[in-house]
Amino acid sequence: MKFSKFNITFDYNNKSYLTNTFSKSILEIDSRIKRIIENNISDALSKNEESLLGEHGFMVNESIDEIGLLRYRSNKLKNDKSEMEFVICPTLECNFSCTYCFESPRKGCMSQEIQDQVLQFIFEKVNDPDNKSVHIIWFGGEPLLYPDILLKMNDKLYQYCKENNKLFKSEIITNGYLLNVELVEKLIKCHIEHLQITLDGAKCSHDSRRILKNGDGTFDVIYKNLELLFNKPITVSLRMNVDKTNLENIADLEKSILKLNNPNIICHPAIVELSDMHFQDIKEKCFYDDSELQMYYGHPTISKYYNSYKCSDYGLRSFFCEAEHEHSFVIDEIGNVYKCWNSVGVDDEVYCTVKDTTPNPAIVSVFLGRDPFTEKKCVDCPYIPICAGGCVMQKKLRNENECCDNKFNFLESVKKSINMHKE
Ligand code: SF4
Ligand code: SF4
Repeated sequence: MKFSKFNITFDYNNKSYLTNTFSKSILEIDSRIKRIIENNISDALSKNEESLLGEHGFMVNESIDEIGLLRYRSNKLKNDKSEMEFVICPTLECNFSCTYCFESPRKGCMSQEIQDQVLQFIFEKVNDPDNKSVHIIWFGGEPLLYPDILLKMNDKLYQYCKENNKLFKSEIITNGYLLNVELVEKLIKCHIEHLQITLDGAKCSHDSRRILKNGDGTFDVIYKNLELLFNKPITVSLRMNVDKTNLENIADLEKSILKLNNPNIICHPAIVELSDMHFQDIKEKCFYDDSELQMYYGHPTISKYYNSYKCSDYGLRSFFCEAEHEHSFVIDEIGNVYKCWNSVGVDDEVYCTVKDTTPNPAIVSVFLGRDPFTEKKCVDCPYIPICAGGCVMQKKLRNENECCDNKFNFLESVKKSINMHKE
């Protein structure tokens, strides 16, 4: 037997522990065992110790290539058709001019002809007998600038899935400014279950970043619109984009949201993502390297949002996001298809079109050919079972992998599980 590559030793409350990101086991260990593990001298273990460690996944058979197993699982699930995700952008226009956003020069919305082609593209994909579930995400630009397109297409997609016995779920990523009583009712009627709305902190922080074209703040209108969702069958995740300039503000936002008394609204912080378009402009303000990310996730105001999980909640990750899944797509208003949300509107990033579905080999190689299980930084990393190499787009921008939130939060969740076990 040999030690698993995914073992992590750590000290907590004057005791030593061993955990494993693959098996999620936790074991209290003495200083001798800790030394044996850290120095990789498995011969020094007794038969009983070896068998206990093997039982909990801390030791594996000599002939097992653990990375090979992860790669096998990943390749299998990357091609799995049972769940398919389609992100649809009915327009790239937006009514906001957020300070960190790249604004597309493209005006206009999806024509009737493209709408029909998009539906046909999706129907052909999900018609596969192996497909069981369809997830639609409306994105933009601001998708509610053209609500009729969204409502009509969503309804057709819902009907198709219903007739063909497929699970259907649908959500919108919106700035929330254009919601009104009538529109909320229409969204519910056409089977939208979830909204993601961004509020970048409480009023003062939000209004300095998420502004209308004329520079006016947008907090008050969005907050009032959230009141329309009280007692409605729509869940809302309120995303707060965090960089070094507004880190403290999430606590104030949470206080404002609590006043809405709507348990369907959940706040969550998210790091401002760097994209090709504004990489140099905002890089300085963002949490960028490992030490800055550690500071972000360890910040007392932020950490409580990430540390509500037990370690057993961390599932195995076969690929980082849907951009690496062969059967998930992002579609823009002119029928171009991409793998990554951040690619929308960028000609060089087009994967195929809804009419000509021949994939672009350059995009296939970057997103579908990506293999973190051969990447130098990741193969020796104990977090690879719950990270899978991080975001491909960030890898492209940075020339190295960006470690994901699980790496920075897993040990805290292990400590939480230890505490729960003691109670
Ligand atoms: S590749 Fe990265 S930026 Fe693109 S959708 Fe996935 S996580 Fe987002
Ligand atoms: S991206 Fe970072 S955390 Fe993720 S597997 Fe690679 S080295 Fe580990």
